[in-house]
Amino acid sequence: MKLLYCTECAAPLAQTNKTDYVCQNGHPYYNNPHATVSVVILKDGQALFALRGIEPQKGRYDFPGGFINYGEHPIAAAIREMREEAGITVKALQLVGCTSNTYVENTTTCDFVFATKEWDGNISPDDDVAAFVWKPLNFMNSPDFAWNYDGLYEAISQKGLL
Ligand SMILES: [Zn+2]
Repeated sequence: MKLLYCTECAAPLAQTNKTDYVCQNGHPYYNNPHATVSVVILKDGQALFALRGIEPQKGRYDFPGGFINYGEHPIAAAIREMREEAGITVKALQLVGCTSNTYVENTTTCDFVFATKEWDGNISPDDDVAAFVWKPLNFMNSPDFAWNYDGLYEAISQKGLL
């Protein structure tokens, strides 16, 4: 998705560098990353992986999560997304990583990754998740995993969560 029009005056946008744009009336647009949250749910040394039911990366796996809403705290976003996607209330979230991914062409993300071994409720897929599977955490390094979270396996391991 290339940005075509100014969000303030609807004039055509010109790209000034790889990430930034300006319209003929001087309104700038900075193509900053979109903030996301993911939660690594851990049980008996395994992690909960979500089979993506929608594009992008439909048919590959990731951790349940989603985009942070306008003005929403990342922890509140993580709790909301786990309710919406997995039907559970997560507790004792630990921040285990942050990274950046290319979501689709011209859109990058800034990802907060949490982990927990504590939640209430029965896990059931909803929203944009096709199915959940439990797999060893290192499945995140396989080609079937949608994104790239460098160092995340080591961070979770070092926190004694596995
Ligand atoms: Zn404009």
